[in-house]
Amino acid sequence: MTDQYTFRNPVDAYKTTGYPEQYQDGPGLAAELDPPADHGEDTYRGTERLSGRRALVTGADSGIGRAAAIAFAREGADVALSYLPAEQKDAEDVAALVEKAGRQAVLLPGDISVEDEARHTVRQAVQALGGLDLLANVAGKQQQQPALEDLTTEQFDETFKTNVYALFWIIQEALPYLPAGASIINTSSIQAYSPAPHLVDYATTKMAINTMSKALAQQLAPRGIRVNVVAPGPFWTPLQTAGGQPTEALPEFGQETPIGRAGQPAEIAPAYVYLASAESGYTTGDTLNVNGGMPTP
Ligand code: NAD
Ligand code: MG
Repeated sequence: MTDQYTFRNPVDAYKTTGYPEQYQDGPGLAAELDPPADHGEDTYRGTERLSGRRALVTGADSGIGRAAAIAFAREGADVALSYLPAEQKDAEDVAALVEKAGRQAVLLPGDISVEDEARHTVRQAVQALGGLDLLANVAGKQQQQPALEDLTTEQFDETFKTNVYALFWIIQEALPYLPAGASIINTSSIQAYSPAPHLVDYATTKMAINTMSKALAQQLAPRGIRVNVVAPGPFWTPLQTAGGQPTEALPEFGQETPIGRAGQPAEIAPAYVYLASAESGYTTGDTLNVNGGMPTP
């Protein structure tokens, strides 16, 4: 059977021609992506790297968060899934896969851009899982806006609340519960160092996430809690079809990378697993770039 360890050419491992133009309202659904994304449903093979761990994954319903949640479960972790209420269907699909892996799935719909809801999400996860030792912050908001004149304060606020404030609230709320050995993984972007002109607010939040993570990693290292970052390049997810990119850019999406195509969420899940697992125990404050070969600082 093919799995993530199967030797293959990354250049043509997945779709190399462009994606069809499409648009979804709201956060978008994995169930409506055309073509569907690969989250490792049929391929991710666990090897007990996270046995008995208790994870909270934000944005776990779709895209990169879904791939991480599936991988965590197959590596032996129970997983609490945070997502927006509009994404209930996607979240239930992920919960079924977590349970099929023999692990507990906890469904936590809520808007983490609202402080009370973000903090409540963490408390519910701790309560349902009986503790917490792995926090993967994957949720994010990205809305393209070509002209600064059209970037509203409302959007600027929402992007910062979702991508930066929620991280602060969630990590702060989780800290009292995280034991030595716990791992926090935040999700940045190639946009942090190579910002696109139409993603001014989003790219700025992603650089903030990098810097917040590096500061926090130093603060928490003596307590045995590690903080690392995964920085994706272009991945085929609902975020990109729900206003993350101009619709007409989708046919070219990802083709600017040296590998020449967009990534699939299944291809980034192993980065989260590595940073979650004790095998990366001497690594903190670092950023793992998974971006098809684009140069990073
Ligand atoms: P996605 O749409 O599948 O996932 C983003 C998730 O964020 C949504 O599913 C939603 O559940 C969650 N979310 C957004 N606003 C929220 C809110 N207010 N409350 C609760 N949850 C909320 O898209 P994705 O591409 O898998 O995105 C995951 C992460 O990867 C994001 O942080 C994104 O910035 C980052 N990223 C993605 C790409 C890419 O090309 N897809 C590139 C770089 C970075
Ligand atoms: Mg989603």
